[in-house]
Amino acid sequence: MKVGILGGGQLARMIALAGYPLGIRFIFLDPSVGACATTLGDHLHGDYHNETLLAELAKRADVVTYEFENVPANVAEFLAAHTSVYPAPNALAVAQDRLVEKDFLNEIGIPTALYQAVDSLSNLQQAMQRIGYPAILKTRTQGYDGKGQSVLRSASDLHSSWQKLDGLPAIVEGFVAFSREVSIIAVRSVSGELAFYPLSENVHREGILRVSESCENDSMQAKAEDYVTKLLTSLNYVGVIALELFEVNDELIANEFAPRVHNSGHWTIEGAETSQFENHLRAILDLPLGSTKSVGKTAMVNFIGGKPESERVLAIENTHLHLYGKASRKGRKVAHATVRAANHDTLEPLKKKLIALANEVDDS
Ligand code: AMP
Repeated sequence: MKVGILGGGQLARMIALAGYPLGIRFIFLDPSVGACATTLGDHLHGDYHNETLLAELAKRADVVTYEFENVPANVAEFLAAHTSVYPAPNALAVAQDRLVEKDFLNEIGIPTALYQAVDSLSNLQQAMQRIGYPAILKTRTQGYDGKGQSVLRSASDLHSSWQKLDGLPAIVEGFVAFSREVSIIAVRSVSGELAFYPLSENVHREGILRVSESCENDSMQAKAEDYVTKLLTSLNYVGVIALELFEVNDELIANEFAPRVHNSGHWTIEGAETSQFENHLRAILDLPLGSTKSVGKTAMVNFIGGKPESERVLAIENTHLHLYGKASRKGRKVAHATVRAANHDTLEPLKKKLIALANEVDDS
């Protein structure tokens, strides 16, 4: 069985690492020569628009998936005409545009912050009368890790924030005064089998995920499962999905969803009975899903910009290190570590040690 993956970064790499014990082999399409997953399978080296390479990928893979959502819609459709592609291109189309995504979430009964599409400075000034301050101005497409976003605190921020967008289509959203950010990682197989991981509680800084922690028996679990089920079934979705949510006054408000395995689910490698990566493969190959139960309490810490010495990370009790094989570069996720303990109290001091190491190398 061979799985084709668009993209050869760390997510593709962790999918491949999960697939090897199941006898699955991989072929990656990625434009960069040293893409970090490509030591684990065949590498089609070239552009995502190259139809010769896409046709070869479709021919050599039994099923194709991807590790990022900004796959051009025509590429996903080209592939889908030649082979099975999971998740299907419709999920990509919704997730790629923040306006389409928010419209869709509201249509299916998942609340979001107030938002409005804006296409000029005067349009933005007008929208702010309805949205109110503070707010966030974001590009509608191609944004990730907080890129292309600015916080609007007062009318004096509008001009400079608008200039920064450089004419790209945008959306303005009310700033949510959340008490917590959580995400739910869920999975649906070709046969429609569903499974949900315990919530992840996430800490972002400058729009980039820093720390995720598993939350067993969380009071928001049922609500999050209800929302993500609506999303999975209305998209007829196959594979792992991540729905990012803000908690406000015992309610959940959706921020966005990612139609793929997600950084806030990396803790599942050591912290759940079956990782998100293995379950993604099981789902798209229509194998029975594995248990999503957590094993103790787990925290995941991202190393951004650089990585600490392995010896120092591994000296922390119950810690596992994942180096992505990527060169260090400002703001780049190059590794993560997971630490597991029996409960919150025993986890906390170990997590703090890991965060201190992450802060030493963090250049973002
Ligand atoms: P995004 O790129 O939309 O996932 O945003 C990255 C991070 O910015 C989120 O995880 C939040 O920490 C913050 N953020 C984004 N949108 C909002 C919002 N409307 N209100 C408050 N914080 C936000």
